[in-house]
Amino acid sequence: MNIAILGAGIAGLSAARELRANGISAKIFDKSRGVGGRMSTRYAGEWEFDHGAQFFTVQDDDFKAQIDMAITAGVVAPWNARALYLKTGGLSADTGRDRYVGSPRMNSLPKYWAEGLDIHLGRRINRVVKGETWTLEFEDGTSEAGFDAVISTIPPAQAKLVLPADFTEIQSVESAQMHVCFCLMVGLSAPIDTGWDTLRVKELPIDWIAINNAKPGRNGDVGTIVVHSAPEWSDAHAEADRDWVQTVMLQTASALIEMPLDQAPHIALHRWLYASNKTSPDVSCLVGDNIVAAGDWCLGGRVQGAWLSGRAAAKAFL
Ligand SMILES: Cc1cc2nc3c(=O)[nH]c(=O)nc-3n(C[C@H](O)[C@H](O)[C@H](O)COP(=O)(O)OP(=O)(O)OC[C@H]3O[C@@H](n4cnc5c(N)ncnc54)[C@H](O)[C@@H]3O)c2cc1C
Repeated sequence: MNIAILGAGIAGLSAARELRANGISAKIFDKSRGVGGRMSTRYAGEWEFDHGAQFFTVQDDDFKAQIDMAITAGVVAPWNARALYLKTGGLSADTGRDRYVGSPRMNSLPKYWAEGLDIHLGRRINRVVKGETWTLEFEDGTSEAGFDAVISTIPPAQAKLVLPADFTEIQSVESAQMHVCFCLMVGLSAPIDTGWDTLRVKELPIDWIAINNAKPGRNGDVGTIVVHSAPEWSDAHAEADRDWVQTVMLQTASALIEMPLDQAPHIALHRWLYASNKTSPDVSCLVGDNIVAAGDWCLGGRVQGAWLSGRAAAKAFL
């Protein structure tokens, strides 16, 4: 089998590793310059920000076994964050399952999982075409033919443009929707300690603040703060003026942290057009005739869901 995998995020890497474990090699293509997709790190001079996934939790036994190996390899660490939740009625502890992060940065885990895989970066796929074998057509006008099967792990809004219209599961792909999220990154000249490491908030333009420098293994010489906008607010303002979005998020975060952030030496805003699940088929993956659509949007919308979905896509061929 000669399999093409679209996307080098957690789902694509998981699919490729499952195939490799069963003696099947695959070629992964991704439009980005690095692996990891939304489990990513933004570099800005001396500052580094986990601007996508903040942490992940582990419930599945097989996923746990993988994470235990990654901890042993030094690329994942538990994060015993001082986590608070602010909602109507006041402030409380933000309790839940144990949290894990990539170490020393979020993309350490996908980079580790990418080792030894056949990955082609900077390759945006425009179309997947079915013939005797499958052909991938790229944005730059080139194409690559001869694939026996295709696993797509790109977000549904992109997948519905790329996958063939006669894919039997195309309707499920088309009806899956994702929320937008703005990520505000604030770099300070010294680390800060607000008394908490994460603050989840309700009913505000933002829903999350993390003191990134409080995560294990991060540069302790500078301060880094990550702020995420709330899903409904983000959807409503997806195309709003970026300066306005940044100002609103800065003001809201400053008030919560009780510190003016607008004079920080580094401020940047990133928009994730496809950040988290709004509607999902809620299956591990969508299987057609030698073509499978997978990704976190199929199953749970988080890092563990992405890993499970990618593995299920590979198993569909095995
Ligand atoms: C702001 C934010 C906060 C989050 N917080 C958490 C959290 O705290 N905990 C948690 O568990 N999860 C969190 N998540 C979700 C988590 O990041 C995802 O569930 C997981 O990383 C998804 O992996 P994936 O492989 O399914 O998709 P992705 O990571 O999106 O990978 C898809 C890949 O496909 C590539 N691609 C897309 N289109 C094309 C194309 N046409 N051609 C080639 N390549 C293409 C993309 O570049 C990308 O690398 C967060 C996500 C965001 C954005």
